[in-house]
Amino acid sequence: MKIGFVGLGNMGAPMARNLLKNGHSLQAFDLSEDALRSLAQAGAAVCASPKQAAADAELVVTMLPAAAHVRSVLTDEQGVLAGIAPGVTIVDSSTIDPASAQAFAKLAAAHGNAFVDAPVSGGTGGAAAGTLTFMVGASETLFAEIAPVLGAMGKNIVRCGDTGMGQVAKICNNLLLGITMTGVAEAMSLGAALGIDPKVLAGIINTSTGRCWSSDTYNPYPGIVETAPASRGYTGGFGADLMLKDLGLAAEAARGAKQPIFLGALAQQLYQTMSANGQGGLDFSAIIALYRHHAAQQ
Ligand code: NAD
Repeated sequence: MKIGFVGLGNMGAPMARNLLKNGHSLQAFDLSEDALRSLAQAGAAVCASPKQAAADAELVVTMLPAAAHVRSVLTDEQGVLAGIAPGVTIVDSSTIDPASAQAFAKLAAAHGNAFVDAPVSGGTGGAAAGTLTFMVGASETLFAEIAPVLGAMGKNIVRCGDTGMGQVAKICNNLLLGITMTGVAEAMSLGAALGIDPKVLAGIINTSTGRCWSSDTYNPYPGIVETAPASRGYTGGFGADLMLKDLGLAAEAARGAKQPIFLGALAQQLYQTMSANGQGGLDFSAIIALYRHHAAQQ
């Protein structure tokens, strides 16, 4: 397929490379010249605008930081909607709020295009390995149309419901992740302060009822999980500021639904404190620094 791809950041670049590896041809655009140069070396055609990336494309994929970027990439004078042919589907894999995804679907429909929300989990490692989970909000027909393409970038492609439901699944998962990471940080720090060997404590938690992904795969205490960011100075993972963004999306969606999120609101404030302390660029598991002074520097 000829695919227009806009947004070649930490996630978008490796996803685009996997499309190329699977035999698709790419028309790529990003604001970063470096990102474009690097993808051109992998075989993509470089474009001067989202409009050009969408022209002649049989599918358009966007992977951008937040809803404001998606709106401008879609609707600017040089945007996707100015260049795309009628009937071509737009797949947005950015994490944004469900209401914006639904609004973008209406805008696209007015141009004769379908818009699908397909946010991902699996991080930069999953993006590089092509093992992402895609949470898709689309009709069954549209899902069947795009699932094979998403299969080149991920291994778990799930239809969560109609437009917006992919984002609902994504923000609910990340709400829980923000809370469990804070909980594990709290328990590990308390145990260490009370004198137990952190490795012994982690071993007990991971074979007991407190076990979760934040404890057994991504433990925030340094030296427990060799491959976790905590064991390499909290670098190269999922940035705390991105977690803060996702908790904000959950809070906003919850406000609209008049649904309380007690622990999510607290977690949001904790990550906001981390960000205010200048640590928003660290992996989100560095939240443990709020419990262990200088933990992020160890
Ligand atoms: P990133 O900041 O690394 O990349 C975003 C890219 O978009 C950048 O290259 C930037 O230049 C480009 N961009 C911004 N505005 C643009 C515009 N107007 N036109 C063209 N390009 C533009 O972000 P990322 O880590 O790749 O994340 C992308 C999305 O995926 C976010 O919504 C994030 O929440 C979500 N996500 C990230 C991860 C992760 O581990 N990093 C995991 C799952 C989901």
